[in-house]
Amino acid sequence: MNTTNDPARRSWVESANDPGTDFPIQNLPFGLFTRGEGDTPRIGVAIGDQVLDCHELVARGLLGSDAPARVRDALGAPRLNDFLALGRDHWHEVRVELSAILHEDTPGLRDDAGARAACLVPRELATMHLPMEVGDYTDFYASLHHATNIGSMFRPDNPLLPNWKNLPVGYHGRASSLVVSGAPITRPMGQTVPADGADPVFGPVKLLDYELEVAFVVGPGNELGRRIPIEEARTHLFGVMLMNDWSARDVQKWEYQPLGPFNAKNFATTLSPWVVPLEALEPFMIPGPRRADDDPANLDYLTWADDFGVDLTLTVEISSARMRETGTAPTLVSTGNYSDMYWTMSQMLAHHTSTGCPMNPGDVFASGTVSGVEESTRGCLLERTWRGQNPITLADGTERKFLQDGDEVLISGCCEREGARRIGFGPCNGVVLPVHETVPA
Ligand code: MN
Repeated sequence: MNTTNDPARRSWVESANDPGTDFPIQNLPFGLFTRGEGDTPRIGVAIGDQVLDCHELVARGLLGSDAPARVRDALGAPRLNDFLALGRDHWHEVRVELSAILHEDTPGLRDDAGARAACLVPRELATMHLPMEVGDYTDFYASLHHATNIGSMFRPDNPLLPNWKNLPVGYHGRASSLVVSGAPITRPMGQTVPADGADPVFGPVKLLDYELEVAFVVGPGNELGRRIPIEEARTHLFGVMLMNDWSARDVQKWEYQPLGPFNAKNFATTLSPWVVPLEALEPFMIPGPRRADDDPANLDYLTWADDFGVDLTLTVEISSARMRETGTAPTLVSTGNYSDMYWTMSQMLAHHTSTGCPMNPGDVFASGTVSGVEESTRGCLLERTWRGQNPITLADGTERKFLQDGDEVLISGCCEREGARRIGFGPCNGVVLPVHETVPA
């Protein structure tokens, strides 16, 4: 930890000192935004209710002026990938500089109304985009509670497969359908089997679900044929986002054997707009999970004495179209914590690259559904309603087994602890639209 994490640190951006803000000066997450239609996206940093425009800061000589040109170029670029490629030392230098620019005692921008108006954009006026071009996206399955719950529904006699505690199970997802919070989600079509033994049919997916997940953004990658050792994971990981891995359970049930999820998962995955740097999360890091005495020991390539988790509280809310029309607050569906996971982000990265599979700056991998022991901590409707047996009731009195058209799923997350400033992640939301009536051209 360093001065950027100091809980006493305050900004001249007054809204950043509000105890409830997601974006105090201790956070400084990176995103990509535009102000007007047709604008070229710019890298921005969230501070209180504002976005600090990195492109503008660099152009005015206020950021990176002592850094190598490639750092300035990366900060002025229309995507985060070049910045991600710079690596941990440069990330730290830029963070220290941003924290200094925004510190309450730093004049400069604070006292220059013209520069302030050019460099700060009210967040409500900024349109957010996916921060980076994601070349590859992988989804893991790292919660023991989720894997056991799902396994017991799909395979009651054999819930947890024999590999599960030996390696972090994952599948290669589709980067092409990653979208940013707020993008609508069209209900997909799919091939399903209406009842065991019946003939398959093709039609709108009926069992549409969300999955509450945490996603990790890769910085410098590895060459083909080279591994990322687990103890070097921190230098390859820039930050953390919230994620909703929208899932079609009826499709999944029919298709998932023998090669795992395919169309059940490839139609949409929502990411929050801000990448929270791991450096901002240091006050909330906890030792990696302890294994039960009768669990298999980690093999060496998955063992790191300094491995870590993050104490990150996550919530899922649902609001129906009717609730939004009538101004009714969303219904809280579950509250989980990322510290409940069995596999760590370092283990997932080390395992993924253990074959020499290359990672590139901007690649994303995600945790899998975050579920804990309690019913209220289960991170998807399949588990939360136990395959529809125990529907939840929304504030408008309607019941949900799975998602209906018009439903909005709202995921949020924050880190809170005595002696540290609260760090938030911003929204990870999406509204379900009806299936396309006709096949679009
Ligand atoms: Mn998932």
